[in-house]
Amino acid sequence: MFACTGYAATAAEARLAPFSFTRRDVRPDDVQIEILYCGVCHSDLHQARNEWHNTVYPCVPGHEIVGRVVETGGNVTRFRAGDLVGVGCLVDSCRECRNCRDGLEQYCEVGFVGTYNGRDRQDGSITYGGYSSAVVVDQSFVLKVPGNLDPAAVAPLLCAGITTYSPLRHWKVGPGQRVGIVGLGGLGHMGVKFARAFGAEVVLFTTSASKVEDGLRLGAHEVVLSRDADAMAREAGRFDFILDAVAADHDINAYLNLLKRDGTLVQVGAPEEKLPIAAFSLILKRRSFAGSLIGGIPETQEMLDFCGTHGITADIEMIRMDEIEDAYARMLRSDVKYRFVIDMATLQPTAG
Ligand SMILES: [Zn+2]
Ligand SMILES: [Zn+2]
Repeated sequence: MFACTGYAATAAEARLAPFSFTRRDVRPDDVQIEILYCGVCHSDLHQARNEWHNTVYPCVPGHEIVGRVVETGGNVTRFRAGDLVGVGCLVDSCRECRNCRDGLEQYCEVGFVGTYNGRDRQDGSITYGGYSSAVVVDQSFVLKVPGNLDPAAVAPLLCAGITTYSPLRHWKVGPGQRVGIVGLGGLGHMGVKFARAFGAEVVLFTTSASKVEDGLRLGAHEVVLSRDADAMAREAGRFDFILDAVAADHDINAYLNLLKRDGTLVQVGAPEEKLPIAAFSLILKRRSFAGSLIGGIPETQEMLDFCGTHGITADIEMIRMDEIEDAYARMLRSDVKYRFVIDMATLQPTAG
């Protein structure tokens, strides 16, 4: 075991605070990583506050991790000390079920092991995430980070990036298609970048006029204000594919009605309340409504390599570790362009 420092929530009502703990020494298949940057995902806040009613405390959030390899176990062949690597939302899975064998570990039938608030399959310990100085992860769940990208701006690709890349790839979004991205936040801004890079005609839907300029800068060909009923009516039946990244309550039928015959709307934002879908929104044009969860390890590597080739990263605001509560408060107001990333060099060693 070795000593780590980090930030943890100790109860649902508690603010995140400095936390000292230990991590396992590398097992034969493990990679030990010094964490350089960690993105701030909305899930971190949900988990820290126990909003999904399954948090084990203390909870060290963080699943958008970029760092350097400092040590490797005896079986590790794919990584060596000094490599720039990433860790996303999963650190293990059963590796035997159909989904795992297909490289879709996020849909593991036994359940994947989360990077934090998960349970280690070997020793049963609760996993601690990336708001910390170091992490130890099995090599099969460690990703190579392209050397030409800003490593801080790569961190959000590990969750926000793959969450949008995967459905756009699965539904084969590309040239000749008109594609809608709903919501310009951490997920949506990556959706715009990927849909554009895949060659689609990209239309961003947003509620705020203040985001029109940014939407165009990020790669959208058009921006539609979703509160403008006339503008929405003009878009009816014109879309091959829509990626809905909105986590707040919203009128899903208004977007289903924008799909062409056989079009698909994929939900990646997760509103708390059920979405009421009118059957005729689907029936009349043989439309599909689907969901998608992050992405498997092979596709996450493919996404990082694609980003390296095309120079794609997230738009980030760097914060100090001790600014995390302010960052959460701003995230709740959607006041971030477009992802906070913690500079782990600001994590002070603590005796706490
Ligand atoms: Zn996330
Ligand atoms: Zn499995």
